[in-house]
Amino acid sequence: MTTRIDGEAVAADVRDSLTDSIAELEADGVTPGLATVLMSDDPASETYVSMKQRDCAEVGIDSTHVEIDPDAPAEALYETIDDLNTDPDVHGILVQMPVPEHVDERRVLRRIDPIKDVDGFHPENVGRLVAGDDRYRPCTPHGVQKLLAAYDIDTDGADAVIVGRSNIVGKPLANLLVQKAADGNATVTVCHSHTEDLAEKTRSADIVVAAAGIPEFIDAGMIREGATVVDVGINRVDADTEKGYELVGDVDHDSVSGTAGALTPVPGGVGPMTRAMLLYNTVDAAGLQTDTDVSLP
Ligand code: NAD
Repeated sequence: MTTRIDGEAVAADVRDSLTDSIAELEADGVTPGLATVLMSDDPASETYVSMKQRDCAEVGIDSTHVEIDPDAPAEALYETIDDLNTDPDVHGILVQMPVPEHVDERRVLRRIDPIKDVDGFHPENVGRLVAGDDRYRPCTPHGVQKLLAAYDIDTDGADAVIVGRSNIVGKPLANLLVQKAADGNATVTVCHSHTEDLAEKTRSADIVVAAAGIPEFIDAGMIREGATVVDVGINRVDADTEKGYELVGDVDHDSVSGTAGALTPVPGGVGPMTRAMLLYNTVDAAGLQTDTDVSLP
């Protein structure tokens, strides 16, 4: 029997608790504010940004949105970030990635004031996370940790294998799971495109996190009986649907169901948690910047 890890339900619990946190802030005259910045006309990016705005409205976070012509000079984006850095009503800044090729992504991440960096990608915040002194945990890895905790999946002493070494998922998650902490203490292996005999490594794991962006490539032969499988992947594949595609994860769910002890679905697993943890970081940021105590779930 494979337990389905219900990310929608856990994310709803996080959002519920955050409405209480926001009420605490409001009692002190603080309304958390998130600014989203979009420099792209990619429909998927537009959808992600509008979902984030909707999520904010649902819990009582003020959101502002800035759109910049993708053909505008990079300076337009840097100057927008400078303005938001000094806006006292904005506690969190999220620049939707990817930015156009003529914009230096690293420079964008460095330009955001680290105290407003609710994505957790500024080098200062990355360094703090590695040192075990995190300020804002990046949303997807933090969401994975919350899912594991919600289902009492112990990371302490567990062998965790992460497939993918990106700066937004694999690397920060590895650094979180390896920390000497209640939601860490795992022995972590990070696999990537140059890893040899991936299946041997994933088969040895108590917890497998798939974040490679390859549709349905983790199958039952790569999973140990009873292991927890977290599918971070969101991949568009051609399908006979109205839109002409469907979203699938990095895990072959038909194959792995029955072998895995627990499995996150796609959609409805890690995705909703990523969105919820952005709200969490924004509330945290509002408390930090206004010196207001706020309890977080
Ligand atoms: P990325 O493309 O930046 O990195 C992919 C990683 O996979 C790389 O480190 C690469 O070395 C590794 N990889 C590639 N081929 C491999 C192979 N054959 N074996 C082992 N490793 C291999 O990816 P990303 O931005 O981390 O995203 C990964 C997936 O997660 C994508 O499908 C993305 O859409 C999804 N994603 C989902 C969420 C969410 O909220 N659920 C958030 C972020 C990303």
